Amino acid sequence: MKLYNTLSRKVEDFKPINAKCAKIYTCGPTVYWYAHIGNFTSYIYWDLLVRTLRANGMKVDRVLNITDVGHLASDADDGEDKMEKGAKREGKTVWEIAEMYMGDFLDNFKKLNLIEPTSICRATDFINEDMALVDALDKKGFLYDTTDGLYFDTSKFPTYADFARLDLDHLKAGARIDFSSEKRNASDFAVWKWIREGEDHAMQWEYRGRMGYPGWHLECATIIHEKLGEPIDIHCGGIDHIPVHHTNEIAEIEAAYGHKMANYWLHNNFITIEGEKISKSLGNVYYFSDLVERGYSYMDYKMWVLQGHFQSERNFAFSDLGAAKQRLLNYRNFAALRWQKKATDLANVRISMMEQLNNNLNSAGAFAELDKAINNNVPDDAFVDFLDELLGLNIGESTPDISDEIKGKIDERFEAKKAKDFAKADALRDEIAQEGIALLDNADGSIWQFIN
Ligand code: AMP
Ligand code: ZN
Repeated sequence: MKLYNTLSRKVEDFKPINAKCAKIYTCGPTVYWYAHIGNFTSYIYWDLLVRTLRANGMKVDRVLNITDVGHLASDADDGEDKMEKGAKREGKTVWEIAEMYMGDFLDNFKKLNLIEPTSICRATDFINEDMALVDALDKKGFLYDTTDGLYFDTSKFPTYADFARLDLDHLKAGARIDFSSEKRNASDFAVWKWIREGEDHAMQWEYRGRMGYPGWHLECATIIHEKLGEPIDIHCGGIDHIPVHHTNEIAEIEAAYGHKMANYWLHNNFITIEGEKISKSLGNVYYFSDLVERGYSYMDYKMWVLQGHFQSERNFAFSDLGAAKQRLLNYRNFAALRWQKKATDLANVRISMMEQLNNNLNSAGAFAELDKAINNNVPDDAFVDFLDELLGLNIGESTPDISDEIKGKIDERFEAKKAKDFAKADALRDEIAQEGIALLDNADGSIWQFIN
């Protein structure tokens, strides 16, 4: 299997540390608001990664975090905590906000038929472990104290700029130096924040005799260290995480423990909506409820996501979602043939689909292989199961066999048509259509298909 590795900026052969089980970490959501459809592209692509590894015979040990503390509204360590902001907006506690939006996230995760990770870890369950990581960094001399918090001195970590190919001189020149006249370098970041006098922050823990809370990047470093053990095989997340969040995660782990954090880094690109960046002010932030309201399903959206590549910037338009819906319906009607005709040999299609996915998750290529096959073939149950395990589009589950009663009507209609009793044939066709079934006639009978 080949994967594009952000670490080397190259497509590389994937060589897992343990050939039988891959260790994967995915940066999860900050649960301060509903996740929009753009946020979910990431989880859909990483689900395909998990499914492709499994189809290659590997087990996957995968951890996803839930950020319920410490994610500031700005990457510069000086914005408001997103969770605290959410709580104030809604007149609820931060813990209530976390419960509510985590629940919504997991509900959508399930409805998208995404394989549940081995562990889902909340940042607030790892505070003691965070403190241990801060201690380890401090002991090695990477930290300095400021009135704002404990900061990581990036000049002491010589490879800091490597991952994101950062131009630190340029960063320095463009840096805003405000509260952080105490900051030694523009790229330094808070690993632990102190609660300052008069600051209203509901989530706080005592550390070194003072109240504070972890910086955002710390949770991922800690959870990886505790749950998977570095180095892991694959770390994945959104492309926006490369220059700050992932760069800082790497600095924390590698400086504290002297181990490489991850051998492969995968980053998904962003989607735009009708040519525009997703933003509240443009009014183009769509949630799954908006899609469902317009007659599209979670699986239609997943089909749309998967027919593109995780590294491409994609533009979402409702008209394209219609095409994805139709494509998925074509696959479902292909699967429905398993109830009606003798299966053909699809072994080569399996191989060619896997070849495409093993080539840096080329899902578009895999669908193109499937498209070539569906007009002249009939699947068996095993092939439909293969598609569902690989793609997670519920193709088999959404194409059950029809009842004997409808089958009887289909035969009756065909006989009526042969006898030129068109009134009866048309009436039966309408009755069958009421059941969501369309008919395609050929010489010796009708093939039934799902209408939607
Ligand atoms: P946020 O809660 O806004 O930080 O978003 C969470 C994550 O969702 C980001 O870090 C991105 O990786 C991802 N994300 C946000 N917007 C988009 C988008 N338009 N397309 C794809 N992924 C996105
Ligand atoms: Zn992370």
